[in-house]
Formats: sequence, structure tokens, C-alpha cells
Amino acid sequence: MSSIFKTELSTEQLEELFQSDEKCYQFLAGLKWGEGYSCRKCNNTNYCQGKTPHSRRCTKCKTEESASSGTIFHNCKFSISKAFYIAYNVCKGTENLSTYEFARRLSLRQMTCWNFKTKIQQALQQIDSLTEIEKSSIQRIFS
Ligand SMILES: [Zn+2]
Repeated sequence: MSSIFKTELSTEQLEELFQSDEKCYQFLAGLKWGEGYSCRKCNNTNYCQGKTPHSRRCTKCKTEESASSGTIFHNCKFSISKAFYIAYNVCKGTENLSTYEFARRLSLRQMTCWNFKTKIQQALQQIDSLTEIEKSSIQRIFS
């Protein structure tokens, strides 16, 4: 159940992530390209800064990849730092917060929280049903 936040994060790191979208994108970019960048399309390893925060654009074929693509945070309709808060609590939280409580704490609609929480739970279930090899490649993105 803890595949998404496999890395142990300190309280300070978590506070930063929950308060800053910028930090969330930086965190995802670190997970995604920490071992080096290579373009999804052409495997080129040179990039320049893309349009969105911490996205990367291939210098050869110009394909741009955002820090959140390939993760559950992709196309999230609300602030990514709030999405991190929900994701972290669902994966690691000891409180078992209701979607009403998330909505209250984050000033979001309850339905929005419910939808995102469900998305995370489904992703976790999918990860649980994968083979070990599939898991390790997914965990590189999610962990
Ligand atoms: Zn490329």
C-alpha cells in the first residue's frame, strides 16, 4: 500500500511539499529524472527547460514532458500540493481521513477529494496486482 511514497520523507520535507506546488514538481522531476534524462520518443539525453515548472524539453525532437506525466498527479484539476497532501495521507496516513475532512482542511469540494482519493486507491490496487518486474518499473515513477 505504500508504493507511492516509498521514500521516507522528513516532516520538514512534507510541510514544504504540502505548501508549495513548485516543490511538488521539483520532487516529481527528481524521482523521474534523478538517474538521468532521456527523451521518451527519441532517447536523446539533452534537454532544456520546458514550459511548465520542472518540465523538460528534448533538444532534438522538441518533445516536452511534464514532471507529473506518468504519475497520478497528471491532469489534476486542483493544486498539486493539495493532491500531494491527499495522496500522502491515503498511502501513509495513520488518521484515515474522510473525504469531508480533506475537503475542510484543503478548501476543496468533497466530491473533488472523493474522486482523487478513489483514483489513488485504484492505482494502489493496480500496483498490488502487478508482477514484481512491472512493479519495480512503476515504482520508479511513483515512489
Ligand atoms: Zn526527443
